[in-house]
Amino acid sequence: MPQRPLRPCRKAGCANLTRDKTGYCEVHKQEYLDYLKRLKAERDRRYDEQVRKTRDRQYYEFYKSDEWERVKTQALIRDKGLCQLCLKKGIIKTADVVHHIVPLKEDWSKRFDLDNLVSLCHECHNKLHSKG
Ligand SMILES: [Zn+2]
Ligand SMILES: [Zn+2]
Ligand SMILES: [Zn+2]
Repeated sequence: MPQRPLRPCRKAGCANLTRDKTGYCEVHKQEYLDYLKRLKAERDRRYDEQVRKTRDRQYYEFYKSDEWERVKTQALIRDKGLCQLCLKKGIIKTADVVHHIVPLKEDWSKRFDLDNLVSLCHECHNKLHSKG
């Protein structure tokens, strides 16, 4: 392997010579690599944010769609408007929400699937979601 020619460090004001492929001397190479790392982290963060925003938007549109209203009503009728978890424990409680058993983010195709829906009271629903 031929050696790279010695060049002055790319850092402004640095008098060191380097053969490193980054073009920086040993002193400034790490600084440069850290900078690249920060740049990449920032890009990843922006990308994640964009993905999240698109998804949130998708969920928002879904929850206000007529189709969801229709399917939700069907689920409530099927469950007789009662919280199904409370019912299992012998408690009669009005359902407040219709919950996706397989969450939207795991299977978007099941969003209108009645078998994937269950009527719940707020308390049971919160418990389910806080379990993560
Ligand atoms: Zn330098
Ligand atoms: Zn309940
Ligand atoms: Zn839910």
